[in-house]
Amino acid sequence: MYKIIPVPPFDIILFGATGDLARREILPALFRGFSVRQVPEDFRLAGVARAEMSDDEFRALCRDSIRSAQEPQAGEQEVLEKFLRKLSYFPLDATGGAGWDRLAAWPRPDKILTFYLSVGPSVFEQIIDNLKHNNMVRPDCRIVVEKPFGQDLPSSQALNGILAGSFNESQIFRIDHYLGKETVQNLMALRFANVLFEPLWNWQHVEHVQITVSESIGVKGRQGYYDAAGGMRDMVQNHLMQLLCLVAMEPPARFEADAVRDEKLKVIKALRDMSSRDIVRGQYGAAAGMASYLEDSETTYSETESFIALKCRIGNMRWGQTPFYLRTGKRLKARMSEVAVVFKRLPHSIFGLRDQRRNNILAVRLQPDEGITLQVTIKEPGPGGMRLIEVPLDMSFAESLGPEIGTMTNAYERLIMDVIRGNQTLFMRNDEIEAAWRWTDQVIACWSEEGSRPEIYAAGSEGPSAAAALMDYGRQWRVIE
Ligand code: NAP
Repeated sequence: MYKIIPVPPFDIILFGATGDLARREILPALFRGFSVRQVPEDFRLAGVARAEMSDDEFRALCRDSIRSAQEPQAGEQEVLEKFLRKLSYFPLDATGGAGWDRLAAWPRPDKILTFYLSVGPSVFEQIIDNLKHNNMVRPDCRIVVEKPFGQDLPSSQALNGILAGSFNESQIFRIDHYLGKETVQNLMALRFANVLFEPLWNWQHVEHVQITVSESIGVKGRQGYYDAAGGMRDMVQNHLMQLLCLVAMEPPARFEADAVRDEKLKVIKALRDMSSRDIVRGQYGAAAGMASYLEDSETTYSETESFIALKCRIGNMRWGQTPFYLRTGKRLKARMSEVAVVFKRLPHSIFGLRDQRRNNILAVRLQPDEGITLQVTIKEPGPGGMRLIEVPLDMSFAESLGPEIGTMTNAYERLIMDVIRGNQTLFMRNDEIEAAWRWTDQVIACWSEEGSRPEIYAAGSEGPSAAAALMDYGRQWRVIE
């Protein structure tokens, strides 16, 4: 049913190859690609980190990481060993000058070369300088950069400047793994490949849009980074903003990288300036046996938000009167990411009671169970007259396309394959990132000028009570479950 199109042979240099992201996501994604033959036999990976270890020790670490991410299926053991033989390890401090000669001699000149920076942003600049000084930057190579891409507009501009000093924009892949999710791409397919939705996709028919990215975990383990960033920089500026763009953008003329990114950029530029009454910030307090944000952060005082809800408006002809509500937080009731497009109610019910008019809701769920549902009103089956009930029309692909579809590729796998193919559609462009930071800085300025503090909410709840008040005109947040 699904077709594997192998990517061309390639070499990839993974900086930060022993780190959390590499072990949990990147290496398992490459192995999955290899095991379904999307990654060709003629691929090689060079892992780079400072820790001293041999190729074999690195392979053992990768074997453990891949096994704990996804237990290899029967018969995959041999494939895993074959995959591991493609890996080498180069111990070096990427910020220093020593050890680069050996790495510089490693790439094959006739194969696609990719640098993947899975390291903290503080070392990006020195790695790029070293790549340049060791003549490793070729016109056909690609570079992948992880988030966070800066912490405000000036720092993101500086980072873009550093990248532009060595690479063309067409070589730079700023990764946001949300864009690699199957359902996120399905959101585009649903909108732009069906006649049903586009005529309704505007302020006349859409009452409001809600985007929720809720996490049940706290900040422990990432507290240093998180306390400096907060939910606005960590989640809204990138993941939620990207989802908002995909819902709100105009249809691009073609499904091509720059056509899609031009439309997303227009949405970000059309976002109206925010005021503090459109923003609710929260911080989790201890509850139900869970520690507070301050305890998790090992501090006694912090004004950082672990929850943020925003009421945004897009100043254009399509969305002028439709609010977009965004919400994200840590230590909430459940892990759930969802985009919900809430349609307006009918002006009149032929069935009598006014309260029988319900909103149709198109809910695109990204996690935990990827799928799309459309909430519709139907007649309650059976005798007893015309009674109406609401049911979800399930558009999950697993049922119609087979259960393996849901698990066939994960976001990192898809995005890395796109990098090798040179397809930038699902990656953020420099101007998009900068426009997103410009807006984010304006939002942050609203509360920093005011000196307001986040409201405490109970760990394991649905967030601070003030978030409900943000939903005016009787609107309600979708239940986090
Ligand atoms: P991490 O666990 O701290 O790993 C950092 C890696 O970089 C390690 O392999 C480390 O190994 C290596 N490293 C650090 N300094 C180095 C240097 N000077 N030269 C060579 N190697 C060096 O970090 P991570 O969680 O994997 O995150 C990596 C990047 O991805 C960060 O930018 C992070 O923000 C981003 N990210 C992470 C996640 C996630 O879920 N973890 C999600 C999204 C984005 P040595 O110490 O041995 O050098």
